[in-house]
Amino acid sequence: MKIRHLILALGVMLAADAASEGKRWWSHIEYLADDKLEGRNVGTPGFEKAATYVEGQFTQIGLKPGGTSGYRQPVKFEARVLVAEQSRLALVRNGQEEPLTIGQDASLSARGELEGSIDAPMVFVGYGLSIPEAKWDDLAGVDLKGKIAVYVNTMAPADASDNVKSHVGSGGERWAVLKKAGAIGIATLPNPRPPAGTNAETPAAPNPNAASGTGTGNAAGAGRAAGGGRGGAPQPTISLADRDLQEQAGQTVSITITRRGAEKFLAGSGHTIEELDQLVVDKKPLPRFPLTATLRASAALKRDTIDSTNVIGIYEGADPTLKNEYVVMSAHLDHVGIGRAVDGDTIYNGAMDDASGVASVIEIARLLKETNAKPKRSILFMAQTAEEKGLLGSKYFAARPTVAFAAIVADINLDMFLPLYPLKVIEVQGLTESSLGESVRAAAKELGVEVQTDREPEQNRFIRSDQYSFIRSGIPALAFKFGYEFGSPEEKIRRDWVRDVYHKPNDDVKQPVNLEAAATFNRVILSLLQRVANDSARPTWNDTSFFKRFAK
Ligand SMILES: [Zn+2]
Repeated sequence: MKIRHLILALGVMLAADAASEGKRWWSHIEYLADDKLEGRNVGTPGFEKAATYVEGQFTQIGLKPGGTSGYRQPVKFEARVLVAEQSRLALVRNGQEEPLTIGQDASLSARGELEGSIDAPMVFVGYGLSIPEAKWDDLAGVDLKGKIAVYVNTMAPADASDNVKSHVGSGGERWAVLKKAGAIGIATLPNPRPPAGTNAETPAAPNPNAASGTGTGNAAGAGRAAGGGRGGAPQPTISLADRDLQEQAGQTVSITITRRGAEKFLAGSGHTIEELDQLVVDKKPLPRFPLTATLRASAALKRDTIDSTNVIGIYEGADPTLKNEYVVMSAHLDHVGIGRAVDGDTIYNGAMDDASGVASVIEIARLLKETNAKPKRSILFMAQTAEEKGLLGSKYFAARPTVAFAAIVADINLDMFLPLYPLKVIEVQGLTESSLGESVRAAAKELGVEVQTDREPEQNRFIRSDQYSFIRSGIPALAFKFGYEFGSPEEKIRRDWVRDVYHKPNDDVKQPVNLEAAATFNRVILSLLQRVANDSARPTWNDTSFFKRFAK
C-alpha cells in the first residue's frame, strides 16, 4: 500500500513537474529563436547573443567553465567567395576553347582552392566510390593522377549497409579516396532523380545558406553553386580555418555540372547523359572513361575570417577517479540566419533546429544541479557552432577537445528532436551500434517510454548531425527523435513538419509544441546521462557495428 501511494504521489508530482519543466525549457527557445537573434547564423551578432545567453545560463546553474576562455572555445572559420568577374570555365578540345556559361552549364564552388588558372584532364569515374566491404571500386584501374574526377553525385547501388553507404558517401570520405588516387578536383554530374525519400530532409530550396552542411548527402559539398543565379549576393563557403581540419583540402576545383552542361562535357566520349541516367535509375554499375575535353578553369577567391565559438560547461563528477572522464551532451547553437522570404518572413529562426536541443542542454544541466545529482563521471555540456556549415564546431571540438580526448566516453547529441506530440516512443539513432543502446533503453523504461530504431535508415541521420564528429573519432554516440508507428497520425505530423517547416522561416516560436512531452524527453536524457556517467565500464561499440572501426 505504502509503495502504491508513493508511486501515485510520484506520478502526480511528475505531471506537475513536467508542466513547469516544459515551460522553463520553452523559455530558452523563446529567447534563442526570437527574431532579434536573426536566425543565429555563424559570425553574426545574433549568434553572439545566443552564445552569451548560454554562458549566462551555465553561470547561473553553476557549471564549471569548460572552454579555453571561460565557457568559450573560440573557433575560427575561413569564409570564401568566388569573385564572379574573375571566374571562368571552358572545355578545350584539340586546342579549341569552348566557353561554358557559369550557372547554366556548370557552376564553380568556392570550396575549390584555385586562384589563377588551370588546365586539367578529366576522367569519368561512375559514382566515384570505393567501398571495399561491398567489393565495389569505381576507381579500380583508373589513372586519376593530376586529373579531375567526374562522377554522378549519388550513391552507388553497392551491396552495403546504410551505415557503410552514408559513411563512404559523405563529402569528406568521398574526397579523401579520390585525393588518394591522385585527383586534383571534382566535377559532379546531376543525379537523374532523387533517390526515394531523400526529399524529406533536404533543405528547402533555395536554402538561405548555400554552404549548409547538415547533409553529407551532397557529395564533397559539390552541390552548392557559388555566385548568383538567385539574385542575392553569393553565400560564402565556410570551412575551419585550421587547414589540418579541412576535409576539402587539396581540391583545386569543385564543379557542379548541369544537365545542359553534361552534354558538352560528355561530347565525343561515346556516352550520353541519358545513358548514364538510365544506368543509375536501373541501379547498375557505370562505365568509366576519359573525357575528350580538358577543363580550363580560372578563379579568384575572396577570403574572410569569421570568429565563432563553442560554449562549454562542466558538471563535475563525484568519483575521485571517474570524474576525470566526460560524457558529452551536445546541441548546435547556430542556425542558417536570414534568407529568402517565405510568406514575407526572412528570418530563419531555428526554434526546433536546434534552439530546442540547446534548451535541453541547459535544462538537463539545471536538473542535475537541482536534484543535487552526484554522477561519477563528469558531464560536459556543449552548445556548438557551425553545425549547419557541415558539423564544423563539433568537428573542431573532437579534434581539439578542451579536455583530454581519451577522457571523452560518449556523445549524447540533440538536434531537432521534434516534440510535436505526446511522447510514447523515442527513436534512437545508433540504438544497435553501441552499449549506449542498453543505457537508453533502461532510461526510457524508467519514464514509461519505449525506444525504437531509426524509422528512416536510408536518410542516414546518424551521421548527419554533430554526433558524427564524435563517431568518426571513435567515440560512441546517440541521437534522438520523437518516435512514431508507421501509418500513425504522429508519422503524418512529423512528415508534414519536415516538409513544411524544416529549414524555413516558420520554424519559429509560433508553432505548436508539446511542452510536457519535451520535459519528459529531457528526463529520459537526464537519466541516460546519469546511467552512462555512473556505469563502471566505458561505453563500447558493438562488435557488429560498422563504426567500431573508428575506435581508438
Ligand atoms: Zn540541426
